[in-house]
Amino acid sequence: MALTQSETETLANAVDDSMALAEDLFDRLATETADGGGVTRASYGDGEQLAHDMVADAARGLGLEVTTDLAGNAYYVLPGRDRSAPQVMTGSHLDSVPKGGNFDGAAGVVAGLAAQAAMKAAGFDPARDVTVMAIRSEECSSWFRGRHGGHLGSRAALGLMQPAELENAIHLGTGRTLGEQMAACGLDPEKLMASPPHLTARDVSAYIELHIEQGPVLVAEEKPVGVVTGIRGNTRARDGRVLGEYTHSGAVPQAHRHDAVLAGAELLTALDRETEAVLSEGGDIVFAAGQFGTDPDMHSLSKVPGEVRFTLDIRSLDEATLTRMRGCAESVAAEIEARRGVQVDFGGFSVSQPTVMAANHCRLLREGCRALGIPAIDIASGGGHDAQEFDRIGVPSSMIFVRNDNGSHNADEAMEIADFALGTRLLAWMLADAL
Ligand SMILES: [Zn+2]
Repeated sequence: MALTQSETETLANAVDDSMALAEDLFDRLATETADGGGVTRASYGDGEQLAHDMVADAARGLGLEVTTDLAGNAYYVLPGRDRSAPQVMTGSHLDSVPKGGNFDGAAGVVAGLAAQAAMKAAGFDPARDVTVMAIRSEECSSWFRGRHGGHLGSRAALGLMQPAELENAIHLGTGRTLGEQMAACGLDPEKLMASPPHLTARDVSAYIELHIEQGPVLVAEEKPVGVVTGIRGNTRARDGRVLGEYTHSGAVPQAHRHDAVLAGAELLTALDRETEAVLSEGGDIVFAAGQFGTDPDMHSLSKVPGEVRFTLDIRSLDEATLTRMRGCAESVAAEIEARRGVQVDFGGFSVSQPTVMAANHCRLLREGCRALGIPAIDIASGGGHDAQEFDRIGVPSSMIFVRNDNGSHNADEAMEIADFALGTRLLAWMLADAL
């Protein structure tokens, strides 16, 4: 049941009042985790811990219940009338990439806290617990090498982390394993693995995450807020190689060459054309070959290149598009191999399924934007988020994007507090009664 118009206005005004708290937290987070222009909050490291301590203090100051789980995630709870009913959750992560931006992650936690503060101030008595989760180690791909499943904090809380990850993930800064790194933060990873999940689908009726947009779409469309319809899945080749033959680049006639670079370039051009075809059919796709290079020990101006290494990163909201692009890559490669006498080895494709956000959440988010007078568009998320892990265990999940200039994962990310206030109004409207 949605709020009445007068309740909606009361709550929106209370959210505006809570922006002082939000700005104070953003300012202190930026100052205390500053690192050469940006901020550094290492996953299971110092900056992340500092952020957790600071925001938990603010939550206690608001009179919220503050708890943690065995993976170090924190929960700030505004108690509902029925304490035994599955809780409504929001949240995001408090870690950052090295020399990253202040808002990627923290905005979602601070928005949740500001929404809770507004609900309390406006006298809203929620039917069920409204919980903000401050999540650990979402940016773990920037901090841990080795085989791990990503989104370590949320996956640990939801029972998705595998024991092998504690050994296989190695912290880039300290060289410790994930297990050792967690222990250094005062956690007990063995107990974590031996215990049942902290959260199951039965404990959580809904999860909604506010996050800055990491691309340029909302700025270009001049909209402060985006309703996220899904998180792109991906198919990736991490160890692609084209093997040809190193020969003299003057003496050998063109017809006798097996040029690995030209073969690789041809492959990428074909994938670019297929990407264009998907887009012209109205499909969703982005594609990049972020690494493409010859071996510096072997290459030379006067050699026909005999080997090129490459990566492929293909992302889409639609699983069928990922399958289609993989099929295209393989069939084009076979044709190039036959014609150029080279060998194309993708080194295997990894696949991560797309996440479709809960349809009823998206409908309510659009309704909330109308009730609050917030200009918004539907938008896809190109980056991964903790929300997809909640979706994975069967919790209806959704995301709100807030306009942000200059992308994320850098010191120049730029979110206006006025836009953040609109996103937080929408979040509070959802948490107060809609979900
Ligand atoms: Zn993030």
